[in-house]
Amino acid sequence: MAEKITAYRFDRLDQTLSQLNREDCAIIAGGTDVMVLHKSRRGVPPNIPNPIIFIDHLSELKRVYQNQTDLHIGACCTYSDLLDDPLIPLPLKNAIKTIAAPAIRNRGTLGGNICNASPAGDTLPLLYVYNAKLLLRSVNGDRVVAISDFIQGPRRVGRHPNEILAEIILPSVFEEGAHVVFEKVGNRNADAIAKVGFAGYIRLNGPRIDDVRFAFGAVGPTMVRSINIEKKLVGKSIPLADADIAQVVAAFDKIIKPIDDQRSTATYRKTVALNLLRYFLTMKQYQPI
Ligand SMILES: Cc1cc2nc3c(=O)[nH]c(=O)nc-3n(C[C@H](O)[C@H](O)[C@H](O)COP(=O)(O)OP(=O)(O)OC[C@H]3O[C@@H](n4cnc5c(N)ncnc54)[C@H](O)[C@@H]3O)c2cc1C
Repeated sequence: MAEKITAYRFDRLDQTLSQLNREDCAIIAGGTDVMVLHKSRRGVPPNIPNPIIFIDHLSELKRVYQNQTDLHIGACCTYSDLLDDPLIPLPLKNAIKTIAAPAIRNRGTLGGNICNASPAGDTLPLLYVYNAKLLLRSVNGDRVVAISDFIQGPRRVGRHPNEILAEIILPSVFEEGAHVVFEKVGNRNADAIAKVGFAGYIRLNGPRIDDVRFAFGAVGPTMVRSINIEKKLVGKSIPLADADIAQVVAAFDKIIKPIDDQRSTATYRKTVALNLLRYFLTMKQYQPI
């Protein structure tokens, strides 16, 4: 006979946080990663060692709102919710459209993609270039951490057991002059895990680069981003000189260290990642005509 699983589903967030403070529970939002991670053989319920606690229905975790130039996204917004929301920036919608199929998008959440911390998580490169901050809530109060500090390795995040990721904050996302792209390379346009993910952000003042950011997914244990390399381009004018582009590409060549696995080879991943970077740096959309 199947083992019994203890499951909690409180009406309110404060009750949920109190329970998390009393007992170490496995949080389930959409469950699309948790159920796969703990799956047993066919017909047998998943083998989750801890009591489970559902959070996907909590309205406090499903709000999207704008606070001056910052965008706040509730961690339990599903991908389908976000596709329907007029405040969500187009590049993030473009990334979401590449994730799984509609059934999974109806369940999977942005908070789940972050807390699962897969190197191939499709929203992560964009969240890194948006300098996303995460609002973590517990009975002890709130704390805000940068996404790059929160994600520590594959499936490893800096979350205390009594905390819930409540909001994803995208600072200055409505700023003028920024150009953001997301590219995913997989076996097909959607419903495929990324071989390589790339996000690029550039903010111009006339031809001058005021800010530029790059993040690569699926080519290392976490997203690859280097503020030191980005800084080399700030203050330069577009179109960039070939030598500047070559210098940045060579710098990333040194720090991108992908692996071979069932989805791709390290050589393919690195070649494609650097090609995407080169393409972004020479893109016509934000170049003066
Ligand atoms: C068929 C299939 C296809 C998929 N395709 C893709 C794809 O193309 N691209 C992609 O990136 N992913 C894909 N995924 C993975 C998955 O759908 C996403 O990572 C999704 O965003 C996970 O969200 P969730 O709400 O289902 O997370 P869950 O499974 O509920 O949780 C994932 C992890 O995060 C924790 N967690 C969730 N929410 C919170 C929170 N608010 N606070 C604290 N901890 C939390 C959970 O405890 C768990 O450890 C796919 C999955 C399946 C099954």
